[in-house]
Amino acid sequence: MAPAEAQKYYFDTLAVHGGQQPDPTTLSRAPAVYRTSSFVFKNTEHAANLFALKEFGNIYSRLGNPTNDMLEAMVSELEGGAASVSVASGTAAIFNTIITIARAGDEIVSASNLYGGTYTMFDAILPDLGIQTRWADIHDLSSFKKAITEKTKLLYVETIGNPSLDVADLKEIAGIAHSHGLPLVVDGTFTSPYLLRTIEHGADIVINSLTKWMGGHGTAIGGIVTDAGTFDWSDPKFTLFTQPDKNYHGLRWALDLPAELKKIAFALRFRTVPLRNLGACLSPDNAWLFIQGLETLPLRMARHCSNALEVAEFLQRHKSVSWVRYPGLKDDPSHEIAKKYLTKGYGGMVVFGVKGGKTAGERFINKLQLFSHLANVGDAKSLALHPASTSHSQLSEEQQQAAGVTPDLVRLSIGLENIKDILADLDQALAD
Ligand SMILES: *Cc1c(COP(=O)(O)O)cnc(C)c1O
Repeated sequence: MAPAEAQKYYFDTLAVHGGQQPDPTTLSRAPAVYRTSSFVFKNTEHAANLFALKEFGNIYSRLGNPTNDMLEAMVSELEGGAASVSVASGTAAIFNTIITIARAGDEIVSASNLYGGTYTMFDAILPDLGIQTRWADIHDLSSFKKAITEKTKLLYVETIGNPSLDVADLKEIAGIAHSHGLPLVVDGTFTSPYLLRTIEHGADIVINSLTKWMGGHGTAIGGIVTDAGTFDWSDPKFTLFTQPDKNYHGLRWALDLPAELKKIAFALRFRTVPLRNLGACLSPDNAWLFIQGLETLPLRMARHCSNALEVAEFLQRHKSVSWVRYPGLKDDPSHEIAKKYLTKGYGGMVVFGVKGGKTAGERFINKLQLFSHLANVGDAKSLALHPASTSHSQLSEEQQQAAGVTPDLVRLSIGLENIKDILADLDQALAD
């Protein structure tokens, strides 16, 4: 489907048809997996044009591959963005996004309620590379303003923070970013574009871990970044876009390209500099799995959301539960903001505290039968985790507190099973 056509269709239709065309050579209707490392140049002029970005085409599968192209076109349409680039993991999408925009001496401003791996990247790895993170509090928008300095290059938030499930007030945060001439980078993994098209609320760059709901079956690791095509990088403070790039023919990405490419300067630099030279590419086999997953994203998300709401309400009534967080609960601290943004459902994650703290939490996890105890979310199967002893165990107690992880917190990713079976498993695991 051509991008202009895509605007005619509803999201569910785009999930099945977006980015997809019958294969141009074989007419295969379903997407083909192009298992090849490299592509033949027609002649030397063709080769030179491809390398000079004068013509788009396939060169080498580290840079791009027709199966990955299809996935990228599909996600661009689902997110309502201008261009997407797929990579080996959500984590690689985040890291490559940061270093496409920021370099040693720069700073970023990020909400502190992040996925554990992202927190570690921003807290410990980026500073080693000379990029400092200044933390903001998702509950206090003025903290974003206060954290911005002359060195800031971007603002970063998750749509629903992992693991405490606070919903970001995207419009307000985008407003703060844009009034300072900065892009807003949003990790939309917990909502997926089905629940929230963040670009419509001001996101300039959207990151998704494909590993989670977009893939949806726990079968592959992958990530994707979508450039909204709206941010103007020509302010001299974006030195990686305005000074000659020694990584690419001395090109000034925000200044030297024709208008239609300047628009996607971020996506182009992301592909041409970190993806090409650091190599975190996604295999076409995994791209194919994600295309398959995306076709049923609307159906699955609707079920994840309705099951999760029932689980949250069930836990709230349960005598062995001390507290529950789910943005869909009417008395949840995030509900007012959630209602503004999440009109189709409140996501598939529920977190709660078991009465009796850490020991009771561990006992509950060990008694689960249908739920799998593992470190993933967004699978068709229901999953459970105790973050304080696993995904967030790297962090100090203080950092755990800032990330919203309490010792009794249990994180559930609610799957697609029959709700009665899900509730029965929770009930037997909570029983004394
Ligand atoms: C899983 C996850 C990531 C990292 O993605 P991977 O594909 O596992 O590298 C980043 N952000 C969020 C919110 C996630 O849930």
